[in-house]
Amino acid sequence: MTLAEPLTIARLRLHVSGVVQGVGFRPFVYGLAEAWQLAGFVGNNSAGVFIEVEGPARALAQFEAALRREPPPLAVIEAITSETLPVRGEAGFRIVASEAAAATLTLISPDVAVCEACLREMRDPHNRRYRYPFINCTHCGPRFTIIRALPYDRPLTTMAAFTMCPACAAEYQDPRNRRFHAQPNACPVCGPRLWLEAEAAERMEGEAALTEVRRRLADGQIVAVKGVGGFHLACAADSEAAVQRLRERKGRPAKPFALMVADLAAAQALVALDDAAAELLTSPARPIVLARHRPTAALARWVAPGNAALGVMLPYSPVHHLLLEASGPLVMTSGNLSDEPIAKDNAEARRRLAGLADAFLMHDRDIHIQCDDSVVRAAAPPVPVRRSRGYAPFPVALPFAVPPLLAVGGELKATFCLARGRHAFMSQHLGDLENLETLRVFEAAADHLQRVLACAPEVIVSDLHPRYLASRWAAEHAAGRRHVRVQHHHAHVAAVMAENGHPPGTPVLGFAFDGTGYGPDGAIWGGEVLVADYAGYERVSHLAYVPLAGGDAAVRRPYRVALAHLRAAGLAWEGDLPPVQACSDAEQAVLAHQLSTGLNSVPTSSMGRLFDAVASLLNLRQTATYEAQPAIELEGMAGAWPFGGADEVAYAFDLRAGVFDAAPVWRALVMDLRAGLPAALLAARFQASVAVLILALSRRLRAARGLNVVALSGGVFQNTALTTAATRLLQADGFHTLTHSRVPPNDGGLALGQAVVGGFEAR
Ligand code: ZN
Ligand code: ZN
Ligand code: FE
Repeated sequence: MTLAEPLTIARLRLHVSGVVQGVGFRPFVYGLAEAWQLAGFVGNNSAGVFIEVEGPARALAQFEAALRREPPPLAVIEAITSETLPVRGEAGFRIVASEAAAATLTLISPDVAVCEACLREMRDPHNRRYRYPFINCTHCGPRFTIIRALPYDRPLTTMAAFTMCPACAAEYQDPRNRRFHAQPNACPVCGPRLWLEAEAAERMEGEAALTEVRRRLADGQIVAVKGVGGFHLACAADSEAAVQRLRERKGRPAKPFALMVADLAAAQALVALDDAAAELLTSPARPIVLARHRPTAALARWVAPGNAALGVMLPYSPVHHLLLEASGPLVMTSGNLSDEPIAKDNAEARRRLAGLADAFLMHDRDIHIQCDDSVVRAAAPPVPVRRSRGYAPFPVALPFAVPPLLAVGGELKATFCLARGRHAFMSQHLGDLENLETLRVFEAAADHLQRVLACAPEVIVSDLHPRYLASRWAAEHAAGRRHVRVQHHHAHVAAVMAENGHPPGTPVLGFAFDGTGYGPDGAIWGGEVLVADYAGYERVSHLAYVPLAGGDAAVRRPYRVALAHLRAAGLAWEGDLPPVQACSDAEQAVLAHQLSTGLNSVPTSSMGRLFDAVASLLNLRQTATYEAQPAIELEGMAGAWPFGGADEVAYAFDLRAGVFDAAPVWRALVMDLRAGLPAALLAARFQASVAVLILALSRRLRAARGLNVVALSGGVFQNTALTTAATRLLQADGFHTLTHSRVPPNDGGLALGQAVVGGFEAR
C-alpha cells in the first residue's frame, strides 16, 4: 500500500515589476498556470503584473520558479513579491482587466526589431500577412515610439486610428495566440499601409511602391523611408554619385553615413565583427554597430571618408526587410538636415525633406515621438556612442534612490534623464541642442517621457554652462522646484560611477577627457582629473592651459590649436610643419597677436582639442566638418600601426607642476616628424602617451590619497584603443577601473551624471 502525499492546496498573490507590460507577460503566465493546472487570474496594473494562483503547493512552487526562470524574451523582471492568501476554491484561470493603481512604476519596452516568427509568416505565401510591411506580435514591433500615455493599451497608442478586423481581434483576445494583446496588431485588411510619393509620379501602394523604390535606388536616387522612430534618407551605398549627392543635399561633407545590409553575412563582408559585435548587430535593439572596415569592401568612397570604422545595421522593421531583400547595402542616414532633429510626421517630412529626397516611402502608422538609431562601437566590451532606439526608455539602475528629477543634459549629442527611486530613464538621442527646432523636440520628448512614466520631477538638474539652451530652459522651468547645477566633468565622472553601481561615499579618481565643458574658473575644461564622489569633486590635476583663440574656429580649424600648442611648447612656427603650412600668413599674424595678448581667446585644458591638434601636426586633417573628426581620424591612423606594449614607446607629459603639460610631447613629436617617422607610428605613440599619462597620474594620486578606483569618462574615451590601453595598464597595476558600457562616454551620457549628482544633493 502506498500512501499518497497529502495534497496541500494553497493560494499565492504575486506581484512582478520591471518591463512586464506589452511583452507578452500575461499570456505567458496564463500558459504557465494552465500547464500546472492552477486556478486564479493575472492582470496589469500601473506597478506591473499581479497574479493570484491557487493549487497544490508543489505546483505553486514550480509555477513561481518558472516565472523567474523563463520569462518572455522581451521581459525584464526587476522584482517578484509573493504573499500567501486564504484558499478560495476557485476554478479556472483568467486574464482580468487592467487595474489602475496609484503607484506608477511600470517600465515600458523600447521598440523591438521584428521577430523570426513574424518574418517567417511574412515570407509564407499562404499566410494572411504574406509580405505585409507592418507585421508584428507580442514579442516584437514598435512600442516606445507609438505610446502616447500609460497604460500601454491600444487606445493610448497611435494604433488607435486602426480598428482591428475580426481575424485580428480574435488573435488579440486569445491568450493562447502569440498576438494576444499585441497593441500594434494589424493585417493588410485593417492595418497601416505603405505608399510611395514622388513629384510628377502617381502614388503607388504596397508591392508596387516597394518595386518602384528599389528601381529608384538602383537608379541613384535618394528616397526618404519612414521607419520606426522617424524617416531615413536612403541611397545605394555603392553609388559614388548618389552618396555624394546625399552629402551635398544634407550639408554633411564628411561625417560617416550608416549602412543597412540584408543580413549578418552581408555585414561581415563589409566590416570585421567578433562574436560580441555580431550578437549586438542581431540583437532585438538592432543598433548601428561601428566596426573596422574590411579593405575589400565595395562601397562608395564617400560613405565614410577618412574613417577606419564603418557603421552597419540590420533591417529592423518589416519594411526594411522587404526593401533589402533584393538590394545591396543602402546608406540609411537620419532624415534631417545636418544638426536638425529627425523628421517623423508625413507632412513634416514632405516639407523638411523636400529638397533632400527624390521620393518618399510613407506609411500611415503615426510616430508619436521620434527616436533615432542607436550607435555602438564594437570593442571588448562594446561602447555605446548613442543610446536611443531599442534601448530608450529602458532604465539604468542607480546605486541609491533619488527623488523624482529631470536632468536636462548638455548641448552636443543631447539627451536628458528622468529619474526617480533607483531608476534613471535616459531619453533617446535628440541631436545637438543648439537651435529652437531641437529644443522643441527636447520639450516634446521630456513631456512624453514624464507622461508615460507618470513622473513629475521635483528637482531640475542642469550643466553649469549659463549659455547652453538646456541650462537656460532649466532655469526658466525650475520655478518652485529645486534647481541643481552640476559641473560638466563632475557629471561625466558621476555618470560612469552610477552605471557601474559604484556606491556613494567612496571617492574615485576620475579622468574626464572631452572636447569642451564649462569650468567654474571661466576656462574651457576638458582634460580633468577629479577626486570625485556623488556629493562633490576636487580638481586635482588638469592638462596645462593653452589659449584657445577664436572659439569655434579652433574646432573647425585644428591647425590653430596646433599652433597654440607649438607656441606653448616653445617651438617656432616653421614652414616645414603641416599646421604652419595650413595657416595663411595673415591668419598667422592675427593668431599670434591673439595668443600673446589673450584677445578673443580662452584658456583651455581640452584633451579633445589636443588630439585634434596632434592630428593637424601629423597632417591628417587641417579642417574639420564635424566635432572630433581629426581625433577620430588620428585613432584610425594609430590603429594602422601594429605594436604591443604601450609604455616603452610613449612620450612623457611633464607632471612637475601639478598639472600635466604637453610641451615635452610636442617637442618629441616634432623631432620624430622631422626625422621622417611615419605618421601612423607617431599617432600610435601619442595615443599610448595618454594611456601612460593616466597610469602615472593614478599612481601618484593613489600614493597621495589612498584611492584605488579609476573612472574614465568623456568623449575622448570613445577612442576604444585608448580606453583599452589605459584599462590594461591600470588593472595590471592593481587599480579597479570603471568604464562605460551602458551610456555613452560622450555628452550623450552626461544627463545620467547630472541626475545622480543632483539626486544625491536633493535626496
Ligand atoms: Zn513578432
Ligand atoms: Zn486585421
Ligand atoms: Fe563632455
